[in-house]
Amino acid sequence: MKAVLLPNWKSDPQIVEVEEPTPGPGQVVLKIAGAGLCHSDLHLLHDFEEGMLPWHVPFILGHENSGYVHAVGEGVDTVQVGQAMAVFGPWGCGKCDACGRGQDTYCIAPLDGYDSAFGGGLGTNGGQAEYMLVPDARFLVPIPEGMDPVAAAPLTDAGLTPYHAVNLSVHKMVPGSNVVVIGAGGLGHMGIQIIKAMTAANVVAVDVKAAARDLALKSGADVVLDGGADDVVDQIKEATKGGAEVVIDFVGTDGTLATAAASCKYQSDLTLVGVAGGSFGFNLYAPPYETAMRSIYWGTRAELRQVLALAGKGLITPEYSTYSLDDALTAYGDMEAGRLTGRAVITP
Ligand SMILES: [Zn+2]
Ligand SMILES: [Zn+2]
Repeated sequence: MKAVLLPNWKSDPQIVEVEEPTPGPGQVVLKIAGAGLCHSDLHLLHDFEEGMLPWHVPFILGHENSGYVHAVGEGVDTVQVGQAMAVFGPWGCGKCDACGRGQDTYCIAPLDGYDSAFGGGLGTNGGQAEYMLVPDARFLVPIPEGMDPVAAAPLTDAGLTPYHAVNLSVHKMVPGSNVVVIGAGGLGHMGIQIIKAMTAANVVAVDVKAAARDLALKSGADVVLDGGADDVVDQIKEATKGGAEVVIDFVGTDGTLATAAASCKYQSDLTLVGVAGGSFGFNLYAPPYETAMRSIYWGTRAELRQVLALAGKGLITPEYSTYSLDDALTAYGDMEAGRLTGRAVITP
């Protein structure tokens, strides 16, 4: 089968021919419907050297996946061949306390036979291929009837991660409250839709790109601001009447973190999602008193069910462009050049 391989650290992906996987006991092989590209994939291509991560190259890329059950291994009776499934990305051991909470992201031990609990596309073969091996049927979540399985692929990360960020602060998103969303790209525009679907909070979206601001507006943001404006913080203060209860930074540069901190009032939640690698000089006065700062990573299995259910009811709709497997490298190029609005999804 064809697959998009990361052949080595600090190298470009390659489209290669590899052997089709077969399921062992408890395992499932999916025929891929959609495999999303993520900004973190670019960091994966460029930022790491051997030994920096507990992973080994080469492996097939793609950690946002959906498809149809193609073959099941011995003992698998929870899914049927042909069923449309989304893949819960982080693959934990299934035995520790974190996995018991459905929070495989913070699993302390890898799954038997695997190097790490990060999941397919992150150090072990992912879904940017015709078929994908899923090591345990419990990592599959049914796609609601009537929903396009391709649309489910970006939801497994670009939907689940913002859902987790929103969920952690949803108690603060009461009527009259304000949420500042910085970055309205692949994750940010989903974050806006999720806030609007779940709460009555006002959403102030900030992005430097005009296309992303249009997407923010289409996604339901109440106020949309140009992140490149010199007085953007003043504009945020005005739009939020002095500061937001919740600020979510989907970018994560020094600049966006400074804007995020300045957008808080007292007792705000400031959540960093973006992987741009910036930092912020935390002190007694900034961000304002009793602001809780946190970073997050992905979400839980229960939250993925929620995300898919919201999408199944038409309450959230991911924006994405599709590419054939042969055009996968064009998709990487478009992502790297900032030409995408929303997500890129490979549809083998
Ligand atoms: Zn991702
Ligand atoms: Zn575990």
